[in-house]
Amino acid sequence: MAPWLRRRPVTFAGDHETIFFAARTPVFFIMSLHHIHVYPDAVLKREAAEITIIDDELRQLARDMLTTMYAAPGVGLAAPQVGVSRRLIVADPGEERGREPLILVNPVIVAGAGTAGIEEGCLSVPDFTAEVIRQAQIQVRGFSLDERELEFTVEGFAAIVLQHEIDHLNGLLFIDRISPLKRDIFLRRQRKQRRAAGP
Ligand code: ZN
Repeated sequence: MAPWLRRRPVTFAGDHETIFFAARTPVFFIMSLHHIHVYPDAVLKREAAEITIIDDELRQLARDMLTTMYAAPGVGLAAPQVGVSRRLIVADPGEERGREPLILVNPVIVAGAGTAGIEEGCLSVPDFTAEVIRQAQIQVRGFSLDERELEFTVEGFAAIVLQHEIDHLNGLLFIDRISPLKRDIFLRRQRKQRRAAGP
């Protein structure tokens, strides 16, 4: 998710200390930047595969995704956005960047309530934003990189970011959730840009 989203107060109704302690990533590893795939890349439309083994390769991928997200800069990134069709997301929706990165393996939304809408953007959909209506509060279940099962309730900006990132794992972009009129504006702009770029 892109950083131009309006920031909202983040309230964690769950056991946030456990969540973020468990999900916090060490910062002293060698990290590398990934290329971010953009619309209409096919990897973004694909349903990502469930992760069955949490190994060093996956931990490295998560660290690299965080580095890529901060560098972009963004507040969330899903593995398909770096061309890896696996169910892994990273996010940092907190007020203080870099303090509480969240890494979730196989995240699922198990419950949700209310509605909330903010202007969203996406690192995979450059130069376009639109309001998306989502659930205001969600209960999320997933695993940390040390294989601990996490379950927590989140609301506000963080709830929006997590819904946006989990959508990526199901092959959905925020432009799939906007009004047909708004999507039409986006698609027309895309066609124009492609024409301008030449055959
Ligand atoms: Zn996105």
